[in-house]
Amino acid sequence: MVRYRRPTTIEEALEILTEPGSVILAGGTTAVPELTSVAAADRTGVLIDLQDLGLDRIRRDERVLRLGATTTLQQMIDAPEVPEFLAGLARREAPRTIRNMATVGGLVASAPATSELLAGLLVCGARLRIGSGDGASEVHIEEVLGSGSGGLITEIVLGCNGAMAHERVARTPADSPIVAAVARRRDDGQVRLALCGVAPTPVLVEPGAVAGLEPPGDFRGSSEYRRRLAVTLSERVLARIEDAGDNK
Ligand SMILES: Cc1cc2nc3c(=O)[nH]c(=O)nc-3n(C[C@H](O)[C@H](O)[C@H](O)COP(=O)(O)OP(=O)(O)OC[C@H]3O[C@@H](n4cnc5c(N)ncnc54)[C@H](O)[C@@H]3O)c2cc1C
Repeated sequence: MVRYRRPTTIEEALEILTEPGSVILAGGTTAVPELTSVAAADRTGVLIDLQDLGLDRIRRDERVLRLGATTTLQQMIDAPEVPEFLAGLARREAPRTIRNMATVGGLVASAPATSELLAGLLVCGARLRIGSGDGASEVHIEEVLGSGSGGLITEIVLGCNGAMAHERVARTPADSPIVAAVARRRDDGQVRLALCGVAPTPVLVEPGAVAGLEPPGDFRGSSEYRRRLAVTLSERVLARIEDAGDNK
């Protein structure tokens, strides 16, 4: 049997997290189907519901955006602090009914391969504040994507100045992308490029290395097709950020 706990402080949540079989529950869009599957019928442990931790705040100063981990994707879209570019990527993640529940912390922890918002967080140099039994730490998002945060993500901190561009190819406009490219040119000229659909999670790629990628193929696109898409979409986004204005 799985027990349910709803801590009201981060310290309490971290203490529960040390219990065997503990599972973090945020919006539940991925976690609940897994926990209620037949395969999980004999599972024991404790479910840690984050909703009373007050981690759904969004703050922004001139250059830095801070997203509390339980900020929902819809809150990101509605908040004036979030640049329109990132709000647009959040809108692409899922239909509104799911966006009302799914959190940005849950998105980072579950690291879906086709998440264009994760690609956006990568180019924005996102850092994760993570709490664990060993104390608090801060890591770059690319260090933990797909390998697990090893604790409780409490906040995502990212830069939001500069020019950004996004291109995608999907089977239909509403479908998740086969390949997508997101690029950002910071005010100091540094350029970052991230791709979806070329690896098990969205990844940062050096612009000069795109043609040498060997993406895994599937029924939606062979490896060669994905590589060609990656090259074309990367060229487009890199060209667009060259003469684009800032994204506010
Ligand atoms: C119908 C449907 C359609 C979807 N479509 C898309 C899509 O098109 N593109 C896409 O990218 N995703 C899609 N998703 C996936 C979903 O939107 C994301 O995975 C979601 O953001 C997960 O967030 P959550 O808050 O629901 O996480 P939960 O389901 O609560 O948790 C997901 C995982 O993250 C862990 N976790 C959650 N919060 C934290 C935290 N703060 N610290 C550490 N670990 C944590 C949980 O333990 C669990 O393992 C879809 C999901 C559904 C149900």
